[in-house]
Amino acid sequence: MENHIKGIHHITAMAADAKQNNAFFTQMLGLRRVKKTVNFDSPDVYHLYYGDEHGTPGSVMTYFPFGHMPRGTRGVGEVGITEFAVPTGSLGYWQDRLASNGVAGLREDSVLGEPRLAFDGPDGDSFAMVESDPEGRTPWTGNGIVDEVGILGFHGARFRLREANAAGELLAFMGYEKVATEGAVTRYRIEGGNAARTIDLEELPQASASRQGAGSVHHIAFAVEDRAAQTEVRKSLLDTGYQVTPVIDRDYFWAIYFRAPGGVLFEIATNEPGFDQDEDTAHLGEALKLPERYRPFRGEIEAHLPELA
Ligand code: ZN
Repeated sequence: MENHIKGIHHITAMAADAKQNNAFFTQMLGLRRVKKTVNFDSPDVYHLYYGDEHGTPGSVMTYFPFGHMPRGTRGVGEVGITEFAVPTGSLGYWQDRLASNGVAGLREDSVLGEPRLAFDGPDGDSFAMVESDPEGRTPWTGNGIVDEVGILGFHGARFRLREANAAGELLAFMGYEKVATEGAVTRYRIEGGNAARTIDLEELPQASASRQGAGSVHHIAFAVEDRAAQTEVRKSLLDTGYQVTPVIDRDYFWAIYFRAPGGVLFEIATNEPGFDQDEDTAHLGEALKLPERYRPFRGEIEAHLPELA
C-alpha cells in the first residue's frame, strides 16, 4: 500500500440526543464543533463534527444523533474504546472536571506504560484520555479548558475482537507495525503520518457480539493525503479481495468503505479538501451546511432538526 495510510482521519459514532451530544463534546470536553451538516443519506439527522481549530485529520470525532435511538451493547466486532490524547500531567484536571459534572465510568489506569483515564459518553460511549506528547498539536480552548490540558486529537482506538490475527494482518497490510503486547491487547502503530497512529486490538474469544445503537462507533476512518493515494489504496484492497465501495464525495473529504475482518467498518478518507471548503475557519461549525442536493429543501430540513443550544 506504499505508505499511503496516515493514521486515523475521523471516528464516527451514533447518539440519541443531538443537543446533549453537542453540549458534551463542546462544553464538557472542549472540542470545537467544526461542521454542522446532515447525514448525507438521511437529511433529517444531523452529522456533527468535533475536533481542533481546523478539524485536522486525526482530531475529528463525528456523530449521527438519531433522536430516540436505543443504546448499543458493547461487545466484540466494534471499536470498543475511542482514545483522545491529552498533555502529560493533565489527567488530574480531567478527573476533577468530569467527576464534578457527573460523568460516568471514570477509571484511571495505565496501558503499556501510558497513564489513562477512562470515561463514558452521554450514551454509554467508551472513551479514554491518554497522556501523550503534543507532537506539535494544539488544543482548541475555551469553556474553562486551557492549552495545558486541552484535547490534542486522537491517541488511537481500541478494537474488541473475538479473534485479532486477521485484523492485525489487515493493519500490517495498511502499513501498521505490531509494537507491543500486554495481556489480551496487541498494539499496532503507523509511522510517517499524523499523531493518531495507535490501534490496539483486544482479543476476547468468549465475549458476545456488540449490538450497534446510541453510543456505538459506526466506523473508523483512516487518512490518505489525496484522491490519487485513495485510488491506489482502493486498488490494493480490491486486489486483496476486500469488497470496497466506490469513491463517495462527502464534501469535506472523499470516502471509501469496507468491512475489516472481525467486524469493524473501515473508511479511507482523504485529507483534502477539508472543513474550510464551504465556510471560513473563523466560523466553522456555526451555520447548517448542506450538500448540494439538499440545498433546495433547506427550510424543510431546518424545521425538522432540533436546536443544539
Ligand atoms: Zn466517516
